[in-house]
Amino acid sequence: MPGVTLYVLGDEAHAKDPATAVSSKNRWGFLIDISKCTDDCTACVTACRTENGVADPENLEVDAQWIRKVFLKDPETGAKKSLPVMCQHCASPPCVDVCPTGASFKRADGIVLVDKHICIGCRYCMMACPYKARSFVHEPLEDQKPYAPRGKGTVESCTMCVHRVDAGQMPACVDACGSEGKGAMLFGDLNDPNSEIAQRLASYPTTRIRADLGVAPGVHYQNL
Ligand code: SF4
Ligand code: SF4
Repeated sequence: MPGVTLYVLGDEAHAKDPATAVSSKNRWGFLIDISKCTDDCTACVTACRTENGVADPENLEVDAQWIRKVFLKDPETGAKKSLPVMCQHCASPPCVDVCPTGASFKRADGIVLVDKHICIGCRYCMMACPYKARSFVHEPLEDQKPYAPRGKGTVESCTMCVHRVDAGQMPACVDACGSEGKGAMLFGDLNDPNSEIAQRLASYPTTRIRADLGVAPGVHYQNL
């Protein structure tokens, strides 16, 4: 396969060759092994904020969170789990369906984005998203990253670190999980049967959050 070979905790993973145009031949996605993700680890969350210029939230109800740790407890056994949840980069994204301006869109390679120049801040997409993955920017912003434009009055969510993927790199959360976290996150091309992520999906039982909704998320979970 054409592409750059990177390594995530000994696993081979493939990101986009920078010289290759965006194509539906690729379908980028995540596989997150919950058995490795510990309650006290937030390396992915911190890396996302640092990479994309998103400040630590002061009010979790309204401030932007592109990725967050979600804590689960089985009411019968008391067993606890934690998992990172971000935009699931749905193959059939309701956010795109309801957007009246075309600001919400899905790239050919499956990455779902918001064009901040077109977004009118109606927040229909926030209501349509089953994963509460989107945030509205209420306040003026400073110190934005040029590759991750943000703006008051627009909606935003995880971009899959598209600027990094297009440069042949891993999303910042995946890098951080491998280097500072527990090595729970794998990124790669779901369409490439030789990719590590495709092979793990073919070899182990995995699930997607609310798979019953039929939106076909690009984020898969193992041991959830
Ligand atoms: S998780 Fe939400 S914001 Fe992301 S693609 Fe799906 S519907 Fe859209
Ligand atoms: S808030 Fe922006 S991206 Fe979301 S539906 Fe409205 S115009 Fe589209």
